Parts: sequence; C-alpha cells; structure tokens
Amino acid sequence: MAFLLPWLFSEGYRDTETVPPATEDGHDQQPPPPPTSAEPKDQKPVQPPPAVPASGPGTFTTAPAGEAGLATGTTYRIEIEDGAALEPTGVARQIAAILDDRRGWRTVGATFRQVTTPDAELVFRIATPATTDRLCDVRQPGHIGEVNCRTGPTVVINLKRWQLGSDRFSGPATEYRALIVNHEIGHWLGRGHLTCPGPGRPAPAMMQQIDGLKGCVSNAWPYDDSGGYLDGPAVP
Ligand SMILES: [Zn+2]
Repeated sequence: MAFLLPWLFSEGYRDTETVPPATEDGHDQQPPPPPTSAEPKDQKPVQPPPAVPASGPGTFTTAPAGEAGLATGTTYRIEIEDGAALEPTGVARQIAAILDDRRGWRTVGATFRQVTTPDAELVFRIATPATTDRLCDVRQPGHIGEVNCRTGPTVVINLKRWQLGSDRFSGPATEYRALIVNHEIGHWLGRGHLTCPGPGRPAPAMMQQIDGLKGCVSNAWPYDDSGGYLDGPAVP
C-alpha cells in the first residue's frame, strides 16, 4: 500500500500519546453505567449487556478470512483472545464493513484486506481488559481495564469497549466499534488528535471524545456522507 499512499505513510507510526511505545486511547476510560433494574412498564425489557470476562488466558485465535471485505489493500489479521465468546466471522464482517465504509479512510484511498498469515501489515487484537493492559503496559489510573491501545501496527481493542461501547458516546456499541477502528487506523495513517470545531458539529473521529465533547456531538467517522473530512483544530 505504501506505493499508493506515500504521503500518508511517510510519517510512520506517529504517536502523539503519552506512554511509549504503547498508546492508551482515553476515549473510553469511563465504564458504561450499570444496567437499570427499573424497567418502564410499557416497553420491552432492556437486553442485559453481554457478560465481559475481566481477564483471559492471553492466547489468541486468528479469525478466518475471505468471507467479507476487499480483495486488495493493506493486509490485516484479526485475533480474538480465547474465552472472549465472540463469533470470529461476525467480528471479521464488522471490521471489514467499517474499513470499507464510504465515510471511512477508504475516502483517501486506504483500503484493507483481511488475511490469516503472520506477515499481515496490521493486526487487530480483541482482548479482555486485563490482557489489553498487559499488552500495552497500561498503568495510568482510570485507564486500567478500560481503554483500547495500540503498539505500532497492533491495535488492541478492549473486549469491554467492543461489547459495551462507552457511556460518553451516544450511540450503540456497533457505532462505537467504528470509532475505535477509525480512530486507531487514523493514528496508524499518521493522524494526530483533533478537537471540537464548534458547537453542534460532529466530533472528529480523531478527537478523544471521552475527554468531553466540548459542544460537539458524538461521531464515529472521519468523513461525512459527501466525502468531506470532519476536521477540527489540531491538539498540540
Ligand atoms: Zn488517540
């Protein structure tokens, strides 16, 4: 892919965050609120959130490829921690759909192809909170057990965030998954953090939305439906 996007890749894995070599992404340091037990009488009962194991064995199984996504592009592998109780094909479909969404990074020509081989250029690992912390050496109080992170070409997605989303994000977990992937791929493409461009505007995907929306509204995508970049002032 580098031959297609030399300007994007020229900066390498620029890491604007604090704990080298891993980055703890604090979009999501607050746990979601506990499920309420008082259900309104005239509504269907709210589905209980899925159970998320706090820790796992630290071993991973590679998700099968070939059922979703593109045939060309930067190669990526998906690994799911054993015991995470996720359906690998479903995870692969969701990640492929996010990467290929017209509001995503494909707008700038970044395309991705799932593989199962060890030489993949990118790796998505979905890991229990404890394993995420270990893989990225997460130590910051408030981040432990809560954040996603990235070490070079490996994006570590906290199982808790994948399953439950974030209470700072007004949208379903499926949309929050798009924010996780888009934000971390944005870093991988060399993008740094942005902040809110103005009240009522969509929060940039590269904004750390957990730190407060600063008047913006939650948004998971780097581009709008017309292909316009949802920009904001750079965070120094
Ligand atoms: Zn970030």
